[in-house]
Amino acid sequence: MSTTIADQDSFDSLDPLDPSAEELLPAGEPIAERLPSSDARAARAARARVAAARLGAEGVEGVVLSWVDNAGLTRVKTVPVRRLEHAAAWGVGAAPCFDVFLVDDSITTSRHIGGPVGDLRLVPDLDRLTRLAAQPGWAWAPADRFEQGGAEHPGCQRAFLRRTVAAAARRGLELRAGIEVEWVVALAGPPSDPPVYPTHGPAYGFHRLTDLSDYLRDLLHALDRQGLTVLQLHPEYADGQFEVSIAPADPLAAADSTVLVRQTIRAVGVRHGLRTSFAPAVQPGAVGNGGHLHLSLWRDGRNLGQGGPGPHGLSTEAESFLAGVLAELPALLALGAPSPASYLRLVPQHWAGAYQCWGRENREAALRLIPGPPGEGPGSANAELKCFDAAANPYLLLGGVIAAGLTGLDAHRALPAEVRDEPSEHPEGEIPRLPDSLAGALAEYRTSAPLREALGDPLYEAVAAVRQAELELFAQHTPEELAAATRWRY
Ligand code: GLU
Ligand code: MG
Repeated sequence: MSTTIADQDSFDSLDPLDPSAEELLPAGEPIAERLPSSDARAARAARARVAAARLGAEGVEGVVLSWVDNAGLTRVKTVPVRRLEHAAAWGVGAAPCFDVFLVDDSITTSRHIGGPVGDLRLVPDLDRLTRLAAQPGWAWAPADRFEQGGAEHPGCQRAFLRRTVAAAARRGLELRAGIEVEWVVALAGPPSDPPVYPTHGPAYGFHRLTDLSDYLRDLLHALDRQGLTVLQLHPEYADGQFEVSIAPADPLAAADSTVLVRQTIRAVGVRHGLRTSFAPAVQPGAVGNGGHLHLSLWRDGRNLGQGGPGPHGLSTEAESFLAGVLAELPALLALGAPSPASYLRLVPQHWAGAYQCWGRENREAALRLIPGPPGEGPGSANAELKCFDAAANPYLLLGGVIAAGLTGLDAHRALPAEVRDEPSEHPEGEIPRLPDSLAGALAEYRTSAPLREALGDPLYEAVAAVRQAELELFAQHTPEELAAATRWRY
């Protein structure tokens, strides 16, 4: 096994206030003082200058700026730490055609976005600047994307999520969210089909934990060092599969954390000779990698998922919100189950939530209501959306779900009857099945007024173009070929 993360701890003994940190600053007067026009730009630059000095003193050489594209892949540019101040002030160039990249790096186009012309600026969000514990010498920040003139890029998925959070705030509502991360590890080396797994321990087995004990310890350590609060980590059902869940946070922080958690899992794996897959279906027929989304709705510090007059204590507002999400799930799949391969996973009796129904603690319902153990406290009640998978862009998914929920809330929707048992055992057609293909989900998305309005035409149409192009890309693939083509991409 390679060096453990724990061996890197010497970085932390460096004093961030060490005067030698000054030497790491760029020469000349601070950029902030050279910017005549924009106070915001100057303020960002000033913050970045301090942060860069601290990171430099801690041994950081490069800063990764990431965004997640509409295919669900995290793309990056990096700057040397000395250029962080400039990047914060002016952004880093990136082509808008990334909005129409597919999972295999081929490129489609759409009405408003696509083509070789134009440039965007990636601006690091310094609130989330984090030193990467499993990639010594590197720090990371999620990027917002702006046009060169400084306007928000209409295709920026992070800005879309911010807008939906603001729409909830205008109604006096806050949300707490968390996305469970599931992944499969295989031995690194030439990819083989099927992959070679590093453990053959049983699902949820102690055996599996023991086989990968050092890897999992290093993972816990790295997540903790990056300020992520792990709730639990366990071996999952499929071969080589694990899952980690992180404490709930506001939606933007939750989406950013999903990016950081996944990157950390991959980086720790590399140090242990492991290859990581977040693909929805690593092997056709097996249980896939879900990306279950947990949500709770709050008003004035009160969790609206408990103590109300609705089913299982839901407040009227929370019921309407969830009814809005449930009604929109077929279209939301185009955001949350975005790959043709997602539908190899989204089948009954795989704990993936393939039915458009809800039920208290029902793990085969797409919407599982979790009232929380009595007495655990106000934070514990939440709703889990199980139909989404690990290929989803978390910003698009969270923004879409919030938009759908607010539509339900404004329309005073009520939940349909609860499903208290196995949906697949009901007579055919009694409980609606969610779309069983990306084509079906895309057809629903194309007619979804709430999603079109919330996303805005440029982003809405770019997403549709990517989905359509991936459908065509994989139209002739067998399930085995589809799983193999997407296995190591996410
Ligand atoms: N791996 C399952 C999925 O694809 C979920 C298993 C679980 O309930 O955590 O969603
Ligand atoms: Mg799981």
